[in-house]
Amino acid sequence: MKPETPAHVAPEDAAARRAVAPVICYPVEGLPAPDLAPYHAARDGWEQVAEVLVPAREARCFDVPAGHFFRITSVEGPQVGDLNLWNAHDLHERFYSGKTRALHGTHLSAGDRMWSNLPYLREMALITADTLDWYGFDGFGGGVHDVIGTRCDPYTHNLLSGGQYHHCCHSNLTRALAARTGLSLHEAELHVHDVLNVFMCTGFTRESGQYFMKASPVRPGDFIEFFAGMDLLGALSACPGGDCSTVHSSDQAACFPLLVQVFKPQRAVPGWQVSRANGYDRSHGL
Ligand SMILES: [Zn+2]
Repeated sequence: MKPETPAHVAPEDAAARRAVAPVICYPVEGLPAPDLAPYHAARDGWEQVAEVLVPAREARCFDVPAGHFFRITSVEGPQVGDLNLWNAHDLHERFYSGKTRALHGTHLSAGDRMWSNLPYLREMALITADTLDWYGFDGFGGGVHDVIGTRCDPYTHNLLSGGQYHHCCHSNLTRALAARTGLSLHEAELHVHDVLNVFMCTGFTRESGQYFMKASPVRPGDFIEFFAGMDLLGALSACPGGDCSTVHSSDQAACFPLLVQVFKPQRAVPGWQVSRANGYDRSHGL
């Protein structure tokens, strides 16, 4: 926590310095928003090829071939989910929430992409629909589907309250990945990474800059839909925080399952290609 009274007196030109207008770090002209119409058209006649119901306070893995869609849908009650994505052929390539945040902002919606980590940095998935896109930012600065939080985990829980809790999203994702891959728990844990917080409503307080959560506006039937740019292995945890209106990292909150469905379009989306390798030559100046 920052001290209430700063240790240093503001300089005379403090107001002028604060008044400097911000500059967008990564202008997105180099990343034009994709035309979603061909993706929406590709739903015509698509075939559901897999379905996974993620139980409350658990996680499950699912596979999405390149060029397929997947949807995460709220069922039974308001519930947030923590999503991990890996290259199905190489777990070292995984979702990079930090750079995705730098490129698209704190919260994702239709038209935004999920990018992979360095040294890969290429499109893993494109968000093609979001029934909560109407929410925008509320009066507290809260938005939906954030890439600013990490994932609830038992280490932070232990640090703050000393307990042992085993159904944080970090542990749920670890168990799911271990079960799917045959890796040991400790090996699998190292591949679990910062998430897309699906349906979670979060922001930073204006006064103290602290990360906050509030009751998710998601209701049964709401969904977020993705298009896979490469063969993906996904894992989704139905967070023990439920709708995240009160607490997480415990069994106190009301929790519900989340539904994952994978769809195969009848034909490839026109003009679409499997995500290409990043063009940087990796010589790093030598
Ligand atoms: Zn969680």
